Amino acid sequence: MTSLKHNGKKRLTSTFKNSTTSRIMRSNKSKNTKLELLFRRALWKNNIKGYRLHWKKAPGSPDIAFPKRKLAVFINGCFWHRCPHCNLDLPKTNTTFWKDKFDRNQERDRRNIQLLNEMQWHVVVLWECMIKSSIEDGVDSVRDALTM
Ligand SMILES: [Zn+2]
Repeated sequence: MTSLKHNGKKRLTSTFKNSTTSRIMRSNKSKNTKLELLFRRALWKNNIKGYRLHWKKAPGSPDIAFPKRKLAVFINGCFWHRCPHCNLDLPKTNTTFWKDKFDRNQERDRRNIQLLNEMQWHVVVLWECMIKSSIEDGVDSVRDALTM
């Protein structure tokens, strides 16, 4: 049970305990998600290699970075990054909290892309739903960007 001694943040965490949201929050923090691994395997099969993972030297630590080619690939979860294709509803509880959080995520994404563009990098954003529906399309996007 939530103790009154808990600060707001802790209370929020325990409210979400064992909920779907809690599982999603955990998965957001982990690198090398299933989706990333799946996509990297597809790149490998297509002989697209030589990339760095979660490369900290580029803004936003792109999930997949080709430093020499100045190409950054972000693999975005639709829930966390508010996919424009899925257009998901806000969670019905703690709506204000989620809206603030999503706004910050989107703002961060925009800023990182802007910084990368200023550094003359190409940016490819791959959405979870797109990879799930056609991983080949995602691979093609990366290949196209590499041959530009
Ligand atoms: Zn989506």
